[in-house]
Amino acid sequence: MATILRGRISLQLKISAGYLAILLIVMVLMNTYPLVVSEDLVFQGKCNSLLSSAAALNTAVSGLDELTEENVGQALAGVDIAGVSRSIVADPYGKVLYDTREIGSAVGRYVFYNELVEALLGNSCAYSEYKEGAFHSAAAQPVLYRNQIIGGIYVYEYDAQQASLLENLSNTLLSISIGVAALVVMLSMFFSRQLTRRLGSLQAAIRGVREGAYNQRAILSGHDEFTQIAGEFNDLVDRLQETEGARRQFVSDASHELKTPLAAIRLLTDSILQTENMDGATAREFVSDIGQEAERLSRITEDLLRLTRLDSGVIEAAGLVEVAPVLDRVARMLRPVAEEKGVELLIVCITGAAVVATEGELHQILYNLAENAIKYNRRGGYVRVTAEPKGETTVIVVEDDGIGIPAGELSNVFKRFYRVDKARSRAAGGTGLGLSIVSDTVSRRGGAIRAENVDGGGTRFIVTLPGLERGEEEP
Ligand code: ADP
Repeated sequence: MATILRGRISLQLKISAGYLAILLIVMVLMNTYPLVVSEDLVFQGKCNSLLSSAAALNTAVSGLDELTEENVGQALAGVDIAGVSRSIVADPYGKVLYDTREIGSAVGRYVFYNELVEALLGNSCAYSEYKEGAFHSAAAQPVLYRNQIIGGIYVYEYDAQQASLLENLSNTLLSISIGVAALVVMLSMFFSRQLTRRLGSLQAAIRGVREGAYNQRAILSGHDEFTQIAGEFNDLVDRLQETEGARRQFVSDASHELKTPLAAIRLLTDSILQTENMDGATAREFVSDIGQEAERLSRITEDLLRLTRLDSGVIEAAGLVEVAPVLDRVARMLRPVAEEKGVELLIVCITGAAVVATEGELHQILYNLAENAIKYNRRGGYVRVTAEPKGETTVIVVEDDGIGIPAGELSNVFKRFYRVDKARSRAAGGTGLGLSIVSDTVSRRGGAIRAENVDGGGTRFIVTLPGLERGEEEP
């Protein structure tokens, strides 16, 4: 529980952290890049326009061989330069000859603004900066006469209007990004909660099944990967439920089968114990019956063990086994039984008939099928076993003209503990497991088995098994 909860929180956290990281990057970019770019554009525009204003003043004073307060004043009297807050003209030593500022005029004083000093050294220059809610920009140019520096022009601009526009832009961007951030946070919370809720219902179903509620299913709407996983999980649980049902059935059938001979043994022993002065012959008869029941018990347990081994999936290494010698051995064992029942046993084995299995498995298949064919036969009947190679397989057919199996029950006979006629099977010493063992063994070796009726009565079992070892397929 704790780990699931921890996992869920961490997933939600991870998703939210991912969204937040992306959001942070977008916000930083949104709030810096456009502002930096527009600021740069403003700086460039300011420098260019101030340099051209300085150039206009320079043109007005050109032609003067020397700069004085009077001639500069006269030359610039009618010159009006828009957008400039202050213009200064200085002599080569930095002494101000002309200043547009009236209050606090610098005329007659020496000024050493960086740009002016640079201009007096012969270089044009300009700068612009944003400070305390305004753009402060300045440009300066040297005044030349016959290539001699006779002074410098300095222009300055203070612009709060564009600065406030830029500030507005920055505020708008900030409010937009805060709005977007709030929306993204809300959406991310919504989506991650949605995601964890879907995961939660899947987990609940898994937990339910883990605790044994096999009828529990994951119900998720939509068509995404979660729905697919839920569908696959449900299929898995269907199969699990089926297997569990079959297992329960098997255990209950097996206990029932074991109970019957055990009950008979108890009954017989009780009878012996409770009957005083039982004569020797009756006692021997009872003990012989007990022996038969014990034998039945051991047959059932042997068959159960065989089936459990088949179910465990442990497969012995198979080799190519020739059918003829194994079939001979089976025939030798069953011939006395067949003779006793007045059934004729015929064996036809075509040369080259071989199967990929273990000898024990082949023996089990042939013995069970042939024994059944004798057991469920009639006096004067026949049992014919043929083995014939066919392409890459070998086909084994066990046919009899005995009591037969009703058509509707042909496929059921391979089920565990299934008997067409219970009493007859028990009387014949059957366990109801023989054909299941045969069918499991055949399919484990990649083969197939089917049963069919023989015209005129009787049954035919047809087994097809691979007849070539892997890697030696015919070209
Ligand atoms: P059992 O131990 O009862 O013989 P099997 O699994 O070998 O169990 O066979 C299942 C049932 O199929 C038998 O009880 C019998 O009713 C039927 N059966 C099997 N083989 C034949 C056959 N050759 N002819 C008629 N009925 C058969």
